[in-house]
Amino acid sequence: MPCVRPRAALPHVARAPGVFVRPRGTVFPSSSASPFLGFLAARHTPFQQQLNATPRLDQLRILGVRYCSTIRMSSQELESQPPSQVKKYLQQSHDRIFENNKRWAEEQKAKHPEFFTNLSAGQSPDYLWIGCSDSRIPAEAITGLGPGEMFIHRNIANLVCNTDLNVMSVVNYAVRHLHVKHVIVCGHYGCGGVKAAMTPKDMGLLNPWLRNIRDVYRLHEAELDTIEDEEKKYDRLVELNVVEQCRNVIKTAAVQQSYARGGFPVVHGWVFGFKDGLLKDLEIDFEGQLKSIQKIYNLTADASEGS
Ligand SMILES: [Zn+2]
Repeated sequence: MPCVRPRAALPHVARAPGVFVRPRGTVFPSSSASPFLGFLAARHTPFQQQLNATPRLDQLRILGVRYCSTIRMSSQELESQPPSQVKKYLQQSHDRIFENNKRWAEEQKAKHPEFFTNLSAGQSPDYLWIGCSDSRIPAEAITGLGPGEMFIHRNIANLVCNTDLNVMSVVNYAVRHLHVKHVIVCGHYGCGGVKAAMTPKDMGLLNPWLRNIRDVYRLHEAELDTIEDEEKKYDRLVELNVVEQCRNVIKTAAVQQSYARGGFPVVHGWVFGFKDGLLKDLEIDFEGQLKSIQKIYNLTADASEGS
């Protein structure tokens, strides 16, 4: 299906001064031009000149040359549409993915004829990324890595829970079988999961998941209670949550045994900021943390050894 850009939605964009639209139709403030956006611009040269400009309709069409995109409609806007329009929007928002995918595959093949042959040969990533499911943090885009370079796990608020078979399997596989060199736990300021955990409210099914973050708050209650500014307290809890999840990674037998044997992986705690698109390294003292954790959680000896 050809790319269709509903004209009716364009005035919606034009109403908001000082914004530009990126190819997939989401809107950034023009003042937030950042290294991240610069990086995006470098990768997508057709809209490089658009970064600091308020869009005109012709510019939007230029942007649309590279990626097929429908202008996004909010759920509220969609609910006010007749059923036929809703159906049309759903079809278009589905089809754009396949249009984009086709174009991407063609581009990769044109740039690197061996690209898909290499991908088919297997993976050997250096990095394991444990991040938040938040849709605004495209791990590979913000780190400049390509397919095959990063093993990725995401969940709400980037938690590493001992009883979560999913994340534990990911860590185990990445460390023991893929032999990753770095494990990154990446949180982000403005995390909805952390915010929800700070809210004294019954969150239903989310309660047991958010309990993990509330436990981080309890562990660092003395420090957090000295911060009066709610935003700063929120930011600090985001950081402390990342540190605690790094500790949870370090507590695993896979990480401890691999590090004792080969000197890797190293565990890092990072936080992504929406305001500038930059990653902040919390500079976790990995060796210090490992030493301290192993006083109680030393799992370097394989239980099968000596038996
Ligand atoms: Zn989040």
